[in-house]
Amino acid sequence: MSSPSTVCRNHLSLSQVYPDLRRIMLFVAFEEAGPESEPSYQQIIFTAENEAVFRLDCSRVECAGGGFDFTPVVDAMVTNRETRAHGTLSCSGLLGSGGACCALRAEYRIIID
Ligand SMILES: [Zn+2]
Repeated sequence: MSSPSTVCRNHLSLSQVYPDLRRIMLFVAFEEAGPESEPSYQQIIFTAENEAVFRLDCSRVECAGGGFDFTPVVDAMVTNRETRAHGTLSCSGLLGSGGACCALRAEYRIIID
């Protein structure tokens, strides 16, 4: 079984990349972005006609070039025929001119229907 291509999938729909899937649910809890802010949560549901790109922007406003890409996680789940996954990703963006690493953590849970 070949895994879905991870290149040039922009503008491809979920049903084109993963013909067997009806729905992917992504729940993400971001660590608090700063001392003043609350932890933030996002719940995103991808259906067959959505674009098959699973990226979220970093919740820190000063973060440049960061974000979270769940596409490899979804690919691995599909390849291994898993319907549930959870874990943590760290942002690889940079903060301000000092170039410190953002490293904001996002705890995710993915459910595939
Ligand atoms: Zn970041």
